[in-house]
Amino acid sequence: MAKEEMRCSFCGRPKSETAILIAGIDAHICDRCVDQAYGIVLEEEDAKHLEGLSNELLLKKPMEIRAFLDEYVIGQDQTKKVMAVAVYNHYKRLLQEMNGEEEDIEIEKSNILMVGQTGTGKTLVAKTIAKMLNVPLAIVDATVLTEAGYVGEDVEGILTKLLQAADYEVDKAERGIIFIDEIDKIARKSDNPSITRDVSGEGVQQALLKLLEGSIVNVPPKGGRKHPDQKFIEVNTKNILFIAGGAFDGIERIISKRLNFQSVGYGSIKEGDKVDRTNLMQYIIPKDVKDFGLIPEIIGRLPVLTYMNPLDRETLRAILTEPKNALIKQYEKLFDMDGISFTITDDALDYIVDKALAYKLGARGLRSLCEAILTDAMYELPSKEEVKELVVDRVYTEQALNKNLMQRLEAAS
Ligand code: ADP
Repeated sequence: MAKEEMRCSFCGRPKSETAILIAGIDAHICDRCVDQAYGIVLEEEDAKHLEGLSNELLLKKPMEIRAFLDEYVIGQDQTKKVMAVAVYNHYKRLLQEMNGEEEDIEIEKSNILMVGQTGTGKTLVAKTIAKMLNVPLAIVDATVLTEAGYVGEDVEGILTKLLQAADYEVDKAERGIIFIDEIDKIARKSDNPSITRDVSGEGVQQALLKLLEGSIVNVPPKGGRKHPDQKFIEVNTKNILFIAGGAFDGIERIISKRLNFQSVGYGSIKEGDKVDRTNLMQYIIPKDVKDFGLIPEIIGRLPVLTYMNPLDRETLRAILTEPKNALIKQYEKLFDMDGISFTITDDALDYIVDKALAYKLGARGLRSLCEAILTDAMYELPSKEEVKELVVDRVYTEQALNKNLMQRLEAAS
């Protein structure tokens, strides 16, 4: 009996019609079937990846996002709530897009504008959100964009930073977060464009607009490791979440003026309502930001407006000890690594807060004060094996700060 020609066990093609026929234990497979099977595997992987991503993104509901923020950021209730909703909606929008369904209702972007004095936690909020979502974050300073003059290039540089943060994985970058700090510094200097035409400021705003509304941008990879030869990388900004922050110094005057003059309409204060003059920021509306000098198009592309409260005594005190990576916890850890148990008394902490308030140092000042107080101990104790404990009380704190101050005065004289 003539030996029958071997065939592909999947499509039945005889060996002579295939480029290659691979033999298995009880079966054979031809090159074409391998190709097809591989295609199926890839599709299946893609589907699984998408499913995983959707689950991951929608895992956290606004209240959970809020709870995560609470672990790191003290106070700022309004911002946390607004942020939680904006971020949740942003990723819902992304999901709609990923599912590729033709939707009759297109969800618009929820880019955020945070207004509040420096050192009140704007950057911290953006960082915490990025950490929670496990997406890349680029922090850029809008003032740099003004100084360079050649706006176009620099604005693209923002995306270079995001690409770097995403390790040059474009699709990761395209779902990332960009925090633009000091957005108020590119405001037009006058409310009347015909009098003071601050070209640089407005030019930067126009260039930013393109990024904010979503466009495909050619980004120079600059020092890119994975693409040394590639000139530009295309990045679509459509799904990037933009968070802009600024101190908007003097905006309280604008708010106050509006509150005094405007008695009807959106954002007005009803008769009988008491205006809290100590914190006018809480009454901010988009018009105030426009009057400050941001062009309406930018404001329109940053539709979620929120404010940061100034840090009061209680908040500063809590910042020292409560956040997950609070300063005092960090020092505890540092001393602990030398086998030293570190404690600081309540009145010492109160004293630090008093100093931070007295010198208007804000939350950033807390760190420098702690450094000034603890530097000597951190320098000496690791070499003193017998020391197993450090208790910092108010007297120690006062002395250390005074000594530090004396040293600076001496150095300056
Ligand atoms: P901003 O961006 O508003 O200028 P940052 O977010 O950079 O301020 O805050 C400066 C530092 O102060 C941060 O490192 C953070 O540790 C601390 N800080 C400020 N505000 C808060 C807050 N509300 N809760 C916890 N820490 C804060």
